[in-house]
Amino acid sequence: MQAVAAFVDDVLANVSARADLQAKLSTDAGLVALLNSQSVAQSTLVQLACYTAGVVLGADAVQQPSTNATEVELNWSATCWEIPSCAILPRSDSEVSQTLVILAFFKAPFAVRSGGHSPNPGFAGVDRPGILIDLQRLNEITLSPDQSVLSLGPGARWGEVYQALDSTGLTVMGGRIEDVGVGGLLLGGGYFHFSGQYGLAADNVKNFHIVLADGTIANANATHNSDLFWGLKGGGPNFGIVTQFDLETISLPQIWFEASIYSLDQVPDLFDAFATWQQNASDSKSAVALVVSLEYAVLALMYTEGASTRPAIFAPFDNLTVLEVAVAATNGTVGELVELMGSDGAPASQPRRDYRSASSKVDAELYKEVYNFWQPLAAQVYESTGATQTFTLQPVSANLAAVGNSKGGNPLGLAEANTQWWTTLVYWANASDDDAVRAVSIATEAKWKELGEARNTGDDFRYMNDASRDQNPLATYGSDNLEELKRIALRYDPNGVFQTLQNNGFLLSKA
Ligand SMILES: Cc1cc2nc3c(=O)[nH]c(=O)nc-3n(C[C@H](O)[C@H](O)[C@H](O)COP(=O)(O)OP(=O)(O)OC[C@H]3O[C@@H](n4cnc5c(N)ncnc54)[C@H](O)[C@@H]3O)c2cc1C
Repeated sequence: MQAVAAFVDDVLANVSARADLQAKLSTDAGLVALLNSQSVAQSTLVQLACYTAGVVLGADAVQQPSTNATEVELNWSATCWEIPSCAILPRSDSEVSQTLVILAFFKAPFAVRSGGHSPNPGFAGVDRPGILIDLQRLNEITLSPDQSVLSLGPGARWGEVYQALDSTGLTVMGGRIEDVGVGGLLLGGGYFHFSGQYGLAADNVKNFHIVLADGTIANANATHNSDLFWGLKGGGPNFGIVTQFDLETISLPQIWFEASIYSLDQVPDLFDAFATWQQNASDSKSAVALVVSLEYAVLALMYTEGASTRPAIFAPFDNLTVLEVAVAATNGTVGELVELMGSDGAPASQPRRDYRSASSKVDAELYKEVYNFWQPLAAQVYESTGATQTFTLQPVSANLAAVGNSKGGNPLGLAEANTQWWTTLVYWANASDDDAVRAVSIATEAKWKELGEARNTGDDFRYMNDASRDQNPLATYGSDNLEELKRIALRYDPNGVFQTLQNNGFLLSKA
């Protein structure tokens, strides 16, 4: 039982517990069979992994979610309410390291969860037999003494981050909605209102503190493991578990913003104004958010400086007829902006959720044609199922990509051109409606592709953080970048633990 002895030595420093663990594992029939290369039920091995984690990390770190709905239903979407064999809640990077050594030894399937905001089944949740690594206890938010770096645990939420910074005059690029988790957002790229000026959130990471598949605790930054650093800036859950993100802070004591509601008959004019503003991207201090629902459209205009009147760059929006002012033009802080506009408005009565990604170049006619396709389909599904959904255009400027390149680049393969990333947030109640509801956004993505190609303004890029379960964002990064990501994954995880034991996700093995 040398393998058991070596494993116990690896994971357990505590001598008294070591003897007990070694005795238990050395006589376990399932484990003995595994070590003799016989096939063993996966559920047996997973139970052993849960048991071992309890001995090594303490009972408090291992939960049985079948009796704990809070743990299971922490995922934002009911499509992800899966009951694992156990959930492990590490309190430090070394506990994450011990967890990974245990899971690899027992070949236990696992999923990693930070904020649980992905609605994609099995990405941040796993059914039995499988183990959820829940990072919610790694939620520290620490500003460096010179205030140049903000260190974030993956389990923190963006609302807490902006609150913590609010009195400092500093900000970071992160997430627009308060409840979204730090970990998943940063590993997928991270689009913030002011990314047009400052780049994606991942481009503002100075250092990733990561636990690799073999339990090694490492840093990835511009000078150390620099290939991994590049890969982590949008390469998703393929390389290890990130336990701390060190972000560059940005001095932004005052911003200007306003938000208004428009009736749906204004949508074509809103798209015209939006495209005109996008084309005139000379002033990267300006940002626009545009969300169209089945009832009305919401437009937010934002500027990274205080202003006494609406900044001139927003002139294309001046002649639209406002139905209602949601937030009167004001100067404030980023924290105030996030507090005012950072709710996802997700109805508790519609716990099943999805999102989807598509892109295009700047083209107001294309926006209108795809919207005219989406609107009646979405209205029809609303009638038959009660599902609500949005049609959202997210502006991505040439400067966003240029800033990323100037900071060392990332794997997304973005051209330095003005584009938009379309997305939708979809809410519904019943599992029996899953296919009918999801069919609307699936058809809409296909329409972006078809009409975009016909008009020569299409864009194949799919943004990972908005991509639905059946989409393949990594494959849209370009073949060179994809190959490089695979090389990096193999270098830092030669046994393919994250590709084979990780339950689901945007994995390179599937790209
Ligand atoms: C309402 C809403 C608003 C949103 N707003 C924005 C926005 O403003 N900007 C934007 O870019 N995106 C946004 N998103 C998308 C969001 O970034 C993704 O859903 C992201 O995955 C959520 O992060 P999380 O930590 O909550 O994810 P989780 O669901 O916990 O994880 C998502 C994926 O990342 C992996 N993962 C998480 N943490 C780690 C880690 N520490 N190490 C390794 N792998 C990890 C998981 O295994 C999983 O595959 C929004 C989503 C929703 C639903």
